[in-house]
Amino acid sequence: MENEICERVARIRRELEEAACERWGRAPEIIAVSKTVAAPVVNLAKQAGIKRLGENRVQEILEKMPYLDASFQIDLIGRLQSNKVKYIIDKVSQIQSLDRESLAQEIDRRAGQRGVRMPVLVQVNIGNEPQKGGVAVEDTLTFARWAASLPGIKVRGLMAVMPDIDDEQALRPYFTRMRRLFEALRDEAITSTEIEELSMGMSGDYLLAAQEGATHVRIGSAIFGARTYA
Ligand SMILES: *Cc1c(COP(=O)(O)O)cnc(C)c1O
Repeated sequence: MENEICERVARIRRELEEAACERWGRAPEIIAVSKTVAAPVVNLAKQAGIKRLGENRVQEILEKMPYLDASFQIDLIGRLQSNKVKYIIDKVSQIQSLDRESLAQEIDRRAGQRGVRMPVLVQVNIGNEPQKGGVAVEDTLTFARWAASLPGIKVRGLMAVMPDIDDEQALRPYFTRMRRLFEALRDEAITSTEIEELSMGMSGDYLLAAQEGATHVRIGSAIFGARTYA
């Protein structure tokens, strides 16, 4: 198992470098999506050089965290209910799924109580899909600007979950649009912090994401194998 995870990460890293280096000068960082994967298995990713994990459920983070290698940073990547912010505000390194005002206000409030600024990415509903979270494309810059003005929030970039499209030609423009949004946000220099993370691409499409300028890819099943939901 250990070797398998190491080999998979090494292969993905090589592929990302090939896909990205010529155009962008560096490959995106891999965030290993460890949802549903047991802590002892997740910990094997450490040897593969993985530093950041993606988890999508608050309950699972709370249960698993005591067993995870303490040096991992955890990014929350799933939809977050406002009433659960208090449980994870001091546990996760970043919230990638900021997608509405009420959530921003609650993060701001809880971070303020602790005297910290919580790093977040604004999630964009790039495919304009009703079943997906994320702010509308046309609202993204206004929303990010507003969120960045809250003292408890540090906006560090954008995140998107791509539409489920198999055809590469049809999917690529969504990645390109995300990159343009990211560049527009970065060029605005709206905050005292730098806009430096564009999180897009998963197991099925990380090469496209790397080609189109992702700084971070979120990869689960291609590292840990197919998920089995209990
Ligand atoms: C599960 C998940 C991923 C990883 O999915 P894989 O296809 O297993 O790589 C990435 N991003 C989000 C938001 C997820 O929920």
